[in-house]
Parts: sequence; structure tokens; C-alpha cells
Amino acid sequence: MPLPNDGDTPASVRYNARPYLHGPETAAMAAAMEAGQYGHGPQADLFESELAAYLGVPDVVAVSSATTGIHLALMACGVGPGDEVIVPSQTFAATIQPIVALGAFPRFIDHHPDTLCIEPEAVREAITPATRVVLPVLYGGRPVGLGSIAPELEHRGIQVVEDAAQAFGSQRVASRATTVYSFGPIKQLTALVGGAIVPRTTDQADALRRMRALGITSSQTQRIQTTTYTVDGPGLRGVLPDVNAAVGRVQLARFDTVAARRVALWKAYAHALHGTPDVSLVDVGVGDGTVPFNCVVRVPDRDRVHRTMQVRGIGVGVHYPPNHLQPAFARFTRPLPVTERVAGEILSLPFHPAMTPDDARWTATALLEALTANTA
Ligand SMILES: *Cc1c(COP(=O)(O)O)cnc(C)c1O
Repeated sequence: MPLPNDGDTPASVRYNARPYLHGPETAAMAAAMEAGQYGHGPQADLFESELAAYLGVPDVVAVSSATTGIHLALMACGVGPGDEVIVPSQTFAATIQPIVALGAFPRFIDHHPDTLCIEPEAVREAITPATRVVLPVLYGGRPVGLGSIAPELEHRGIQVVEDAAQAFGSQRVASRATTVYSFGPIKQLTALVGGAIVPRTTDQADALRRMRALGITSSQTQRIQTTTYTVDGPGLRGVLPDVNAAVGRVQLARFDTVAARRVALWKAYAHALHGTPDVSLVDVGVGDGTVPFNCVVRVPDRDRVHRTMQVRGIGVGVHYPPNHLQPAFARFTRPLPVTERVAGEILSLPFHPAMTPDDARWTATALLEALTANTA
């Protein structure tokens, strides 16, 4: 939703984030709808193979959302009651709920304050005999490398599931991880809602395809030719509908323009804010192959800066209030000094591909004005 405008705020700056459509999405969606197949169908099959080609991986499993994708990936890793999943607290609640839904324990850890991403050493310290999975979050699109502790994780049978909901298009560094992308409304690539998993092995791909279809072993095509079907294990209703896949395909074919716009926008912010003593930019790794999802700064007196900018109609936000302090996750809480301090400093600036570098420069000036207003 746009904020009310006080007059001089550029229209696109009123949104913190927004879907970016190229035009042909509507026709593609209507065509898929008229084709009459509303579940996983030919569009989803094509989307999977086009995604695999784009990412340079052997296979991709399309799913209904990243949240469901994380849930399925954890199931594929055998996560169940009593297991521990090492995860940053600084993430969207969607990373945590699937862990809890499986009866497992989120073992919250601190991030690095410059990147808001977890570091190998903090992961190592959090490992217990109950650890089953490490779940890094690629905050802002930044790849998270756990290579330095990979042998130890492997030795202990601990798997890696990446929450790459904010990282579609960024260079992949974790070849031994199961990677989960989101195609939600405001992500780098949107299918309206949706997601995809890069499986680690062909066996895992088979398991994910079964589990996204309620644990049923036969495909829909096979099922209509027989009088029965087999449910051979747990499952969710998690396929990506063809109408969504059709939108995703249009977006994927034009992804490079969006990636370039996002990089240019992030750089315009970075240039405009460079050398400003009270502002530090969260380093999402632009220059190292990141397609940025957001532009987040750390500022003093954040709540007041947020209010001052909102009053001007500028779409600022906070992503995210930490999970270990949420009532739903209180039984898993532990002290996380870095996360708790930084949570009071972060501010997400308006960031979406319809914005121009001029819009970023205008917003950077407004941020500096808001900071000065604070000290006045
Ligand atoms: C958007 C997001 C999700 C959830 O993605 P959905 O596709 O909406 O389920 C999970 N984790 C992070 C970090 C996100 O930004």
C-alpha cells in the first residue's frame, strides 16, 4: 500500500517494495487459465526446466511458496520432533514456522552486524548432538558460504537448507545445500505467489515431488489411467499452479533487466550515502554477484527516523523484528546481543525495480534530513 503523499515525494518512493510486471504476464496467465489445468501442469513443467537452465543446475522443483518449500526441504532432510535446526533470529517468520510445525527446535544464533547473515564460526558453536540442519538466510540476496565448516557438518550428518527467498539471481556458493527460492509478490522474480527448490540429489528431487503432492507416488497423468493410487509417506499440498508458473515464465525470460535495475538502484543508494557518519549500509554483496532484494541501513534513533520519513510519505520499513523475541517462539529464546542491538537500528529504504537512481538519490537526501531533524 502506498503511503499518503505530502507533495514532493516521488510516487514510486511511497512503496517500500512492489511487484514489477513487464506486461505479457496478464495474457500468459489468462492463457494458462483457459487451458483448464489449475494444478501442476505443462506450464509448471516448463518453468522447472527453464529455471534449471537459468540457474545452471540439473533440476528444480516448483512449489507453492518458499514457506512450503522450506517445510518440504526440512522434511526431505528427515527433520522431526526433538531435532534442532540452527537458524538466524533475524529473518522473516516464514523461516521459523516450518521448523516449529515439524516439532523441531529452532536454535537461534546471532548474525554478523555488517551483513545480517550468519557466519560459520557461530554455526559451529551452536552445534549439539540434536542438530539436524543448518538453515542460513540469504539476507538481502547475499550468498552465505559455510565452506569452512562443511567437512564438520558432513561428518556429523548435518544438512544445509538455504532460505534463498531473497536471493533469486544471486550467485550460488553453497553447492551442497538444498536451496529454496520465493516467487512471492515482492521478490526479485514473482509468480504472484510461488517458490522453487534446488534439490541436492535426484533422490531428494523425487522425494520433494512426492511430498509436494500429499505423498502420492503417481503423477496426475498416471492417476487418471488407474483405479487407485499409493500414499507412501508424509506430504503437503504444495504444487505450483500452472497460472502462477505462466507468470513466472514471463518474468524469468526478462529477468536480466530486473537484475540490472536492482543493481543500479542499490549502487545509487550506496554512492549517495557513502561517507555519511550516521548511516551504515547492510552489505548484501553487490559486486560479488548479488541481485539485491533490498537496501537496508543502520541508523541511530531508528524509530524516530522511521516516523519522520513515514510522515513524508516515504515507504520505509523494518525487516525484521527478531524471531527469538516473538511470543510464538518464546520457548526457544536465548540471549542474542548482536541481533537485539542491530534490530533497533535497521531501516529498509524504498527498493523496487520501478524506482530510478534519481529516486534513490532523492530518498538518500530525505534520510539525511530525517537524521538531522533527530539531532535538532
Ligand atoms: C519472502 C520470504 C519468505 C517466504 O516466502 P513465501 O514465498 O512468501 O512463502 C521466507 N523467508 C524470507 C527471508 C523471505 O524474505
